[in-house]
Amino acid sequence: MNKKSKVILLPCNSYREELVYENLETGLELLGSLESIVGKEESVLLKPNLLKKAEVDKAVITHPVIVGMFARLMREKGYQDIILADSCGNGTTTKVIHGTGMDTYLDKFDIPAIDYTKGVHVENPDGIQAKEFVLPAELLERDCVISLCKMKTHALERITGAVKNSYGFIYGFHKAKGHTLYPSADSFARMLVDLNQYVKPRLYIMDGIVAMEGNGPGSGDPAPMNVILMSQDPVALDSVFCHLIHLKPEMVPTNYHGEKMGLGTWKEEEIELLTPGGPIRMEDAVAQYGNPYFDVDRRVARSGMWERLAKALNIFQKKPYIQSDKCIRCGICVKSCPVPEKAVNFRNGRENPPVYDYRKCIRCFCCQEMCPEKAIHVK
Ligand code: SF4
Ligand code: SF4
Repeated sequence: MNKKSKVILLPCNSYREELVYENLETGLELLGSLESIVGKEESVLLKPNLLKKAEVDKAVITHPVIVGMFARLMREKGYQDIILADSCGNGTTTKVIHGTGMDTYLDKFDIPAIDYTKGVHVENPDGIQAKEFVLPAELLERDCVISLCKMKTHALERITGAVKNSYGFIYGFHKAKGHTLYPSADSFARMLVDLNQYVKPRLYIMDGIVAMEGNGPGSGDPAPMNVILMSQDPVALDSVFCHLIHLKPEMVPTNYHGEKMGLGTWKEEEIELLTPGGPIRMEDAVAQYGNPYFDVDRRVARSGMWERLAKALNIFQKKPYIQSDKCIRCGICVKSCPVPEKAVNFRNGRENPPVYDYRKCIRCFCCQEMCPEKAIHVK
């Protein structure tokens, strides 16, 4: 029998420092120790979710206490060479973390936060969807990456968790370009799987103490899930996230393709779920820690033929739209749109909200992710 993928479920109902620290410590012990995953002599990059500048309690970014307590733990264990960075959706690492408290922890534990400065083109001949990437030079210099992801919903992929967090490895504006290269949920998911297989984060830790539901990943609502999840298998970790929110794991493209492409498994029978109290069956974990009311898209996807037809006729597709009374005309959505001729633009002048041209829109939902006012919804 093949070895199962271990996922650690740590019940944790607040961001109190000592509670988070103890849970992270216990989780690493259940995984077999941090030292068995990362050598102390290795150079490490910590990769939180730093989508954009947002107040911490909005649940947009990985909570600073998760980052801070993991940094403390690494330092106490004697890890020397650690940096933190993300290729943010809007802004840079240092700008996004400034004033969140994450910057204070990093100063305290002497961990530099890096703004990526240079993209390097790398070939990925083994990739199934993506044969090349442009990755930050500072990332490629590191021996090892640890992903500190956030539990959130996502308009394109239903959820963003462990697998999707890796999109922040793509350098700068190449992230926007990626949406035009891989415009469908399936092609984007396969590219993400290729990317995870290229970068190979050694460990994924998910902040699910307060998750984001609804209009995620940037404009949803905070939803306490009271868990931290840990795994070396990002697909298995995302699968447990799905179970907890009553979403079939195989309905998430990154899970479906992640399993097919050998990144990991979403299958319950191939996952060993552990808590500090011992092993737990998935159904018991769902009963104890799950939330059936978590606001996530659980609708069944249309078959390939119907999807293609809907696309060709531009009907029955999810669409972003702007709630005009919330719009402050900042133009961030226009700037974020990766379509060169801009599918969202100030067509009626700067004094009015931007307007969509759905014939040009590839439904990447970058505009919805980046709107600072939660003015863009997907329906
Ligand atoms: S990003 Fe949001 S607030 Fe800014 S112009 Fe677009 S819709 Fe309006
Ligand atoms: S309008 Fe929004 S959803 Fe459409 S292509 Fe531009 S950023 Fe993507």
